[in-house]
Amino acid sequence: MVEIIHGKAVKLSPLIHRVTAPNSGPMTGLGTNSYIVGTEELALVDPGPVIASHIDAIVEHAAGRLKWILVTHTHRDHSPAARPIAEATGASLIGNVIANDGFQDETFTGATSVKQDDCIHAKDFTIRALLTPGHVSNHVCYLVEEDKILITGDHMMQGSTVVIIPPAGNMSHYIESLRCMLEYPVDFIAPGHGTLIADPHKEIKRLIKHRLGREKKVFMALEKNRQCRLKELVPIVYDDVDASLHRWAALSLDAHLIKLKAEDKVIENEGVWSLPLT
Ligand SMILES: [Zn+2]
Repeated sequence: MVEIIHGKAVKLSPLIHRVTAPNSGPMTGLGTNSYIVGTEELALVDPGPVIASHIDAIVEHAAGRLKWILVTHTHRDHSPAARPIAEATGASLIGNVIANDGFQDETFTGATSVKQDDCIHAKDFTIRALLTPGHVSNHVCYLVEEDKILITGDHMMQGSTVVIIPPAGNMSHYIESLRCMLEYPVDFIAPGHGTLIADPHKEIKRLIKHRLGREKKVFMALEKNRQCRLKELVPIVYDDVDASLHRWAALSLDAHLIKLKAEDKVIENEGVWSLPLT
């Protein structure tokens, strides 16, 4: 496994290099990964935050060859460096934008939008776009077909669970997007945070099981306590997660409850959650 190194392009496969930004933290792990794909013509996936040393490392590696800058989504640790790198290199911007819910990078404008299975055909690689709403509604993963490496942004991370923030984040869509990924040939996941993940199908199935397991804990909590507010459910449903992360867990729990309500499996009355009468 190739370790995370900041400020330098690290080779992961014949076609892919990773440059990791020095923005490590509780939500970003060891920092945001930017991936550079290709040898003659290059595509950059997720330029990351605007940090001079990070941008310099990307531009230095890509010198004169960068044609496309793609973003998986427009959270502020993934897309803000797109504009300065585009201005420095002349590369074109690709990615989807949504209304700002307080978490979006509004500097990412003027990009060509992407649809399911849109492809970039370069001289030595093909990148296929897979729409993966869930973490946020404009999320896209990018499959480098020759290497069978799927660049997953925040759809899948290594070493931590993705936070789903409603309303732009949606748990039903997230689980459905994971299931769709099982239909593509992938040997490795290249996540937005962390190192490469081997055996992707096993990991995807584990993630689906993990989320559905969380929902089981919601049912068990409501069975035992009858009626609960979200803040009362968090420490019960996330009793395996450090309390310092509970404010983020509350967002994902909200996403679970919205999903279960839409499926008529729980009911809500003025912020109080309970199980339907049988
Ligand atoms: Zn994100």
